[in-house]
Amino acid sequence: MKKIETENRMKNINEAPISAGARILLRADFNVPIQNGKVVDDFRIRKTQETLDYLKEKNTIVTVVSHIENSTSSGIKPTLKPVVQILNELGYPCEFSETIEAARELSLKKSKEKKFALILLENIRNYHGETKNDPDFAKELATLGNIYINDAFSVSHRAHASIVGVPALLPHFAGFQLAREVDNLSRAFNPLHPFLFILGGAKFDTKLPLVKKFLDKADTIFIGGALANDFFKAKGLEVGQSTVSTSSIDFDGLLSNEKIMLPNDLIVDGTGEQKISSPLDVLPTEKILDAGPETLEELRGKINSAKFILWNGPLGNYENGYKEPTHEVARMIATATKNGAESMIGGGDTLAAITELKSTTGESLENSFTFVSTGGGAMLDFLAKGSLPGIDALNS
Ligand code: ADP
Ligand code: MG
Repeated sequence: MKKIETENRMKNINEAPISAGARILLRADFNVPIQNGKVVDDFRIRKTQETLDYLKEKNTIVTVVSHIENSTSSGIKPTLKPVVQILNELGYPCEFSETIEAARELSLKKSKEKKFALILLENIRNYHGETKNDPDFAKELATLGNIYINDAFSVSHRAHASIVGVPALLPHFAGFQLAREVDNLSRAFNPLHPFLFILGGAKFDTKLPLVKKFLDKADTIFIGGALANDFFKAKGLEVGQSTVSTSSIDFDGLLSNEKIMLPNDLIVDGTGEQKISSPLDVLPTEKILDAGPETLEELRGKINSAKFILWNGPLGNYENGYKEPTHEVARMIATATKNGAESMIGGGDTLAAITELKSTTGESLENSFTFVSTGGGAMLDFLAKGSLPGIDALNS
């Protein structure tokens, strides 16, 4: 993989030779949560707006290719149809196509009118060729446009047909959001100092490589969430009933590293009653669920003196009510950002915790950070490897 860290030749959308009536295949990520047939969070769609606005102004014929996974209602085939309403509301009159053939015919017809048109193709993962990156399927998909634009950073860690197959066949460009993701997240490779990396959550296998990668770049790496439990366990401490990784982890060089900061007090629960405990005193019947108040104060000091802050992963089991420390860290980073620090945050659950803060208290922090990534797994992969398959495809 070519490292964006050192080499980035990716062309952006504003370098694309686009004229009125041009047929554009736009890979977007409209994989949004849907409940009772309605989109409940349009964050990702809004992040594509700059690209959509640009293509609208140029009077192009845009066919959007996206996938959707619907985790809530099992048995029901996930469909992108509810997204049409959102696109209409945002000012992009949109037509829905069930098949690639129908979308192609519609785009060819619209192309003659040389006026902006938007066609949304049904869930691309309905086709087996997509995830297998089947060459024939990529060829068929490529008939949807004469120019390919990827604005789906959050899917660009997947070597799928719509991410790597199609750009090999068409002139290819990065959409505004994808370019922004690469520009901003790349700052972590040459960060301002002190650089504080806050890593929480529970995805042990994907997150541990990040700790190793950033040990030399960061000044402090705070490990929170269930990730910290694994560190305590590896140190030979009792972790009781806490969530720990199921795979074996190589902690070589990590346990005594002075850059790594672990919580020094915890919120634990054993008998249905929360209490604050030292990592040294967790009982076999207890479960570690969050970071404690002393830890938060220590973090506040680190956050206030940092010039660059990268945050991924909640500090506690927030879906079950252990959310205050995560919310407080979000507030601290927002304040530090106001005071001049650069902050980058991302992660599905991290953003969900921030959204939840808004819906329960009205406190809106979404615009309080230097950059909010649309990527979860993609952000982690990009940070760990320095590029992604979908970005490599735009770079060649
Ligand atoms: P993100 O999606 O932001 O990258 P992850 O998916 O890695 O974050 O982790 C989020 C999950 O970690 C949440 O389900 C949260 O409840 C869980 N978690 C965090 N801390 C703990 C803990 N101490 N015990 C159990 N689960 C935890
Ligand atoms: Mg998650």
